[in-house]
Amino acid sequence: MESYEKLQKMIDECNNIVFFGGAGVSTESGIKDFRSVDGLYNEKYDYPPEVMLSRSFFDTHTEEFYKFYKDKLNTLDIEPNVTHKYLKKLEDKGKLKAVITQNIDGLHEKAGSKNVLLLHGTTYINHCMNCGKEYGAQDVFNSKGIPRCSCGGIIKPDVVLYEEGLDNNTIASSIFAIQNADMLIIAGTSLTVQPAASLIHYFRGNHLVLINRDSTPYDYKADLIINESLGKVFESI
Ligand SMILES: [Zn+2]
Repeated sequence: MESYEKLQKMIDECNNIVFFGGAGVSTESGIKDFRSVDGLYNEKYDYPPEVMLSRSFFDTHTEEFYKFYKDKLNTLDIEPNVTHKYLKKLEDKGKLKAVITQNIDGLHEKAGSKNVLLLHGTTYINHCMNCGKEYGAQDVFNSKGIPRCSCGGIIKPDVVLYEEGLDNNTIASSIFAIQNADMLIIAGTSLTVQPAASLIHYFRGNHLVLINRDSTPYDYKADLIINESLGKVFESI
């Protein structure tokens, strides 16, 4: 496979690699992209996922929010796949400097990656809206009904909901990482979700690689495009 050899050569050459990943990174762990509305949602729920995962819905329909959230976003029993593990090894070797992810499933952290920039937050960190006390994923997913703090306040996941803005520090760290990278691997994302997609414009390194099943609006900028499943790619190199 010529493109795999090219990718391997680029990785060998570079020592400041940044990986930017979307939902496709997690699909091989069995996680469905909640944005892709399938029949299941329509059958079971009265609202589309974009509505149920919005801030106004959380505030006004908290119980229904948590019904959907616990049903669809619980990844406590889900394991990292070959891509997560490959990236952890690349970080250990000192070659990979940051993983920037749109995923909230905690799988990079489970695989052992250390510098993970969570653009959309994570289900593994939650805070009481009243007193600020921190809670883990189990406290929320294993709770009955609306998860509540010992003080009585409602616990809210540190997940960026629709209608909410991204965290400024995370954006700044992501821009810094991309600006300083000599190689940027963008994978498992169609690059259509803003403002995450616009981060690509900060890259000024040597090798821009896009790995995705389908084409993206940024294909013209890439030095290497691989339209293949991520698992297959990272298994092969
Ligand atoms: Zn509290």
